[in-house]
Amino acid sequence: MKLGIVGLPNVGKSTLFNSLTKAGALAANYPFATIDPNVGVVPVPDDRIEKLGEMYNTKKVTHAVIEFVDIAGLVKGASKGEGLGNQFLSNIREVDAIVHVVRCFEDTNVIHVDGNIGPARDIETINLELIFSDIEILDRRIAKVAKQARMDKTLAKELEQLEAIKAHLEEGKMARTFEVPDDEDLQAWFESYNLLTAKKTIYAANVAEDDLADDGASNEYVAQVRKLAAEEGSMVFVVSAKLEEELSELDDEEKAMFLSDLGVESSGLDKLVAASYDLLGLISFLTAGEDECRAWTIKKGTKAPQAAGKIHTDFERGFIRAEVVNYQDLLDCGSLSAAKEKGIVGLEGKDYVVKDGDVILFRFNV
Ligand code: GDP
Repeated sequence: MKLGIVGLPNVGKSTLFNSLTKAGALAANYPFATIDPNVGVVPVPDDRIEKLGEMYNTKKVTHAVIEFVDIAGLVKGASKGEGLGNQFLSNIREVDAIVHVVRCFEDTNVIHVDGNIGPARDIETINLELIFSDIEILDRRIAKVAKQARMDKTLAKELEQLEAIKAHLEEGKMARTFEVPDDEDLQAWFESYNLLTAKKTIYAANVAEDDLADDGASNEYVAQVRKLAAEEGSMVFVVSAKLEEELSELDDEEKAMFLSDLGVESSGLDKLVAASYDLLGLISFLTAGEDECRAWTIKKGTKAPQAAGKIHTDFERGFIRAEVVNYQDLLDCGSLSAAKEKGIVGLEGKDYVVKDGDVILFRFNV
């Protein structure tokens, strides 16, 4: 799973990105993290695998990960190619969801590109660039489908939908608020356009640390962000990038003290990772053994063979059955053999829908 961090210059994107990647001390275990400095691999906090690891006395604990991409350089005019704009827009096209950072903190030392703080205006500036870019994609697609539709009458309905999406965007609305009819073709086409404004988005309201205790309730800028987000059904996440940066330098104990002094329960980054999981409809299943205990990310509704395929394609191809036990039940029993004796380890077939927290041992043919 890949999330792109976007926003105007100087709103705190890099600060947030750096604290995310630094806080992930475990990221060092993921060598591909260092390939691209703008890509950070962040482990998903999950104490279930830590506990399983203890039970199995395992050699290695591996967390599920989220990739964050720092997409700097999105400015007014980006869709017209300004400031390397198009390159950044194509980076956004590759992500699964967007974290849109919005400046909600006052600081005269940090220059705002428009001279003053205005979250609603800032969001609109960025979103308009995304909309322009999407309209360009639609125009190209419309030209192509219009030609094909002369030979293939079944494409008339695609053309009609393309025009409708374009009209929707031209009203300044995001593609994610476009209601695609309950029609398999139309849904599949819509997905295939991979529109930027169709991507799920979390608005990260970057506030001063004093605003964290009440989750930004007394900050009028945050209120602007909340209003806009509500109109398009997006989530808002209140964070202080600067504080997160400081926290990322501390060890766990110091961090806990620091947070309790501020009246805050958990680090904003942990919350962001959890929110991203939620937003994308993701869950984790676990595998456990003496060599490794590991969490794997899947979409809700994934069946056992496809979940096995996350580990290895051979596991999916040769899938026979899955031995499944709930994480907490396993922990309560103390060992897999004790859980088996108690009869709480299920033998599941190819139609089994994997649940969050399932500990699974796959049986397969090679
Ligand atoms: P980017 O251009 O969006 O990546 O912004 P940066 O992360 O580089 O931040 C721009 C400036 O704003 C830097 O000097 C940061 O230290 C500062 N900054 C970022 N977040 C905060 C914050 O929450 N509060 C304050 N006061 N300054 C911040």
